[in-house]
Amino acid sequence: PVDTTIPDPSLVVLIGAAGSGKSTWARTWAATQVLELDRFRALVSDDAGCQEATEDAVFALQAVLEARLARRKMTVVDATNCEQAVRASLISTARHHGVPTVALVVPTPASVCVERQKGRPANRRVPERAVLAQHAAMVAAWPGLPAEGFDHVVIAENLHRLQALLRPLSD
Ligand code: ATP
Ligand code: MG
Repeated sequence: PVDTTIPDPSLVVLIGAAGSGKSTWARTWAATQVLELDRFRALVSDDAGCQEATEDAVFALQAVLEARLARRKMTVVDATNCEQAVRASLISTARHHGVPTVALVVPTPASVCVERQKGRPANRRVPERAVLAQHAAMVAAWPGLPAEGFDHVVIAENLHRLQALLRPLSD
């Protein structure tokens, strides 16, 4: 059976295409617990959509990740994380600090992810072909996530965190 536990502390790796709702799920954790790659792009370049800044943003994110895990702090990495090599690096960092890992898959349909790009500012809009590639990579990765080394694999739709924790915001 699939283990849907999210222990504290753990490293939660969000996995989903652009527009799938990763950052919306991430809001169910405290802001300081969420390392959002777009935010690090903005911190190094003043532009959250600046793809040229990715290498520096990843470097900065990694430094904060190491500092948090060394303190055994609950940490959520909010990036597409659709590439196996990216996930392997995150798992390796968590293991180094003895912190368990959780893959939190956000399997929103590709058509919905593509549709959600339309309302975004130009610098945050991801091209349709890129969204479809990310979505296909998420689907392909899903069955292999336990074998990659994740201690827990959780499907976002199975959680009631979002409704339960976002409700106070809309009240
Ligand atoms: P990116 O990878 O580009 O950062 P993302 O996966 O973080 O995208 P979000 O920004 O969380 O995606 O969500 C995209 C849009 O979809 C937002 O406008 C958000 O309000 C909306 N959205 C997210 N989750 C839901 C949901 N469960 N129901 C309805 N709308 C949602
Ligand atoms: Mg996001």
